[in-house]
Amino acid sequence: MKSVTLLPSHKKYAVGKILCLGQNYAKHAKEMGATAPASPIIFLKPSTAIIENGDPIVLPKMSNDVHHEVELTVLLGKQGKNIPQSRAFEHIAGYGIGLDMTMRDRQKEAKAAGNPWSIAKGFDTSAPLSPFILTDQVADPNNLEITLSVNGKERQHSNTSNMIYKLDFIIAFLSSIFTLEEGDVIYTGTPEGVGKVVAGDVIDAEIPGIGSLRHEVVSPSSNSAEASR
Ligand code: MG
Repeated sequence: MKSVTLLPSHKKYAVGKILCLGQNYAKHAKEMGATAPASPIIFLKPSTAIIENGDPIVLPKMSNDVHHEVELTVLLGKQGKNIPQSRAFEHIAGYGIGLDMTMRDRQKEAKAAGNPWSIAKGFDTSAPLSPFILTDQVADPNNLEITLSVNGKERQHSNTSNMIYKLDFIIAFLSSIFTLEEGDVIYTGTPEGVGKVVAGDVIDAEIPGIGSLRHEVVSPSSNSAEASR
């Protein structure tokens, strides 16, 4: 079971499920050839996909087009079902930054065939997550600058104010379907500027005041086989 850390207390949370929004920024939906969704697009990643800041992102052999997506992430601190929007923030323990690494070629195939995105989105190392920052220390989660660069060159730069579905709506919506639990993590969607990474690239991502991530991208051959446990 993977866990994440809440700062400043350093309390550990075992992560149950990772719930992710697709196309939650209009300009990203457009670059994907879509219009902004009429209702939230939701998919899940397994907690085994989580890596910490500094860990390598391992490119899967089955893809030639792995993309970066930088996102504001939310750590839930309290269980809830059918949470009203007005009480949604009571369920948030903290905020972080995450990468939603995506096999874009496999995702396009899945979309075309009407198949799920689990492989394209859920592979090992597809969920880099920073430590989370206690809600009290974040003035306005709906107004945070968010950036990502590859090898020092900026690729994504936006603000969480551009999110189509805001945090209170997202939590109310998700909790109408899934029981939300302490330790669940939400990826809130990526702004425009997503793109391919290759082995040797270094990704830097930051939400000032929340956290930053730095990950080297490596090819599968440079990662020795792991014994089954
Ligand atoms: Mg995403």
